[in-house]
Amino acid sequence: MLPFPIKRLIFYAYWKGMMKMFGCTFCKVAAHEKPARIFYEDEHCIVFQDTNPQAPVHMLVIPRKHITSLNENLDDDKMLLGHMMTVVGRMAKEQGIDGTGYRTVVNTNAEAGQTVFHLHIHILGGRVMHWPPG
Ligand code: AMP
Ligand code: ZN
Repeated sequence: MLPFPIKRLIFYAYWKGMMKMFGCTFCKVAAHEKPARIFYEDEHCIVFQDTNPQAPVHMLVIPRKHITSLNENLDDDKMLLGHMMTVVGRMAKEQGIDGTGYRTVVNTNAEAGQTVFHLHIHILGGRVMHWPPG
């Protein structure tokens, strides 16, 4: 019988492989295998238009690396996550919504409404946002 941490590691590798093989939508966007309106990209992340925009500006920032959600162990990804936040600010400036304001959202799992299981930061702007969110 394999020890639990080894089992976890095997499952993790298996899951990542499956994602690559059978296609996570956002991995495909990051690999340019699926068309998207791309606003920005670098070696770590990519920013593109949401296909079902909820505001005049609605972009998604994703890591190139497949990360399912904030529920993953992200201890090794602190630089990546920080980098993504700096990209958010840069994109907001570029789209001219930094002054008026914008909302960033990361949905995690079902009750929050996560539908795509590749980590993404929504950037929403260009209209008044309400609080609390629905
Ligand atoms: P969430 O519900 O937080 O998981 O957000 C997923 C978002 O991805 C939704 O706002 C969708 O409209 C958007 N979306 C799904 N597929 C695509 C795609 N291929 N290109 C761009 N946006 C997408
Ligand atoms: Zn993915």
